[in-house]
Amino acid sequence: MEAAWEPRAGFSPTEAQAAARKASASQVWRHPTFSWRDVPEPTPGRDEVVVRVRRCGVCGSDTHCYETDAEGYVLFSGPTRLPCVIGHEYTGEVVAVGADVQVLRVGDLVCAEGMIGCGVCEACRVGKPNQCPRLEMVGFSSPGAFAEYIVAKERFLWSLGPLAERLGSAAAALELAALVEPIGCAFNGMFVSAGGLLPGSWVAVFGCGPIGLGAVALARAAGAAGIVAFDVVQERTSLALAMGADLALDPRNCDPADVIRTLSSGWGADMLIEAAGAAHATMPAIERSFAPGGRMVYLGRTGLRAPVMLDVLVTQAAGIVGARGHVGGGCFPRILRLMERNRLAVAPMITTRFPFSDTLAALQKSTDRSDGKVMVTFDSE
Ligand SMILES: [Zn+2]
Ligand SMILES: [Zn+2]
Repeated sequence: MEAAWEPRAGFSPTEAQAAARKASASQVWRHPTFSWRDVPEPTPGRDEVVVRVRRCGVCGSDTHCYETDAEGYVLFSGPTRLPCVIGHEYTGEVVAVGADVQVLRVGDLVCAEGMIGCGVCEACRVGKPNQCPRLEMVGFSSPGAFAEYIVAKERFLWSLGPLAERLGSAAAALELAALVEPIGCAFNGMFVSAGGLLPGSWVAVFGCGPIGLGAVALARAAGAAGIVAFDVVQERTSLALAMGADLALDPRNCDPADVIRTLSSGWGADMLIEAAGAAHATMPAIERSFAPGGRMVYLGRTGLRAPVMLDVLVTQAAGIVGARGHVGGGCFPRILRLMERNRLAVAPMITTRFPFSDTLAALQKSTDRSDGKVMVTFDSE
């Protein structure tokens, strides 16, 4: 991905941002273009490994790099330094290890966290690496995985050995585990930031893209009494049912707050997950749907302001919690464990596959938002 560095009117990059050419993408990067480039094959640093990429999912953030607003700025708002190889939801096989690598060996299958905290700032050191102010993001500010090879520090990789063994197939493990990163964003919001849900909770999920679908599957695994999901795309509500939702509806054809009250016999939702990136449209229903002590987890992203009557937070002792990322908090190992034990039936989420040579077509396909996950595959088996 390349684009023109043209800070938006009203946005002044700091000196450090200008020097590093790294800032919130939607504020500085304009007129993006995507093309194939030959880049040098990476060699591992002492604590790094080289991974031969086998699967890489197309993320909503990738779609938001592909899409622009009326003035030509990319929609993605995360820290971005261009040009950059995009792609971060990857799995692959270790093909080289650095001298100080502790556990991983050549031939191991891995999946990868994509948010690289600096490790030395206070956010990193108090256990909030997703909030690191010097965050590097794989596929946005650090070379990504729509490439034959990627280099990564060992500490961001998780082994797929047990998953491959359970599934009896390396290919199946590589494919399933490429979903850990987006599901990890839902896990981090629901269980790390918002403190989790008790078994027997009512859960409502707004937006059934991969993160919302992951939230449905996690709520089911966590013992939700009932789950209702909302999306305007029929293919996605069908997928929500496949992930374990009891009801999946188009919010334009119903009043979501009424649906939630009816499902929960008047109690309301103990957890509400906003994964639609449309808070201006979803908030009016969400604010009428809190159970006493309910939590809203805000995962979607939008630059638009949302109207909300905060008085409900008082009357219901409710809360709104935001979350970004998937690093730490046990997100990756616990999702892998659920997959290994067959407690997270998310494979149907992958609805379209493209070969690596058609990555640009995969990006284009993701813009129609009818898929669960668009997956790029690097081999023919
Ligand atoms: Zn992602
Ligand atoms: Zn940091």
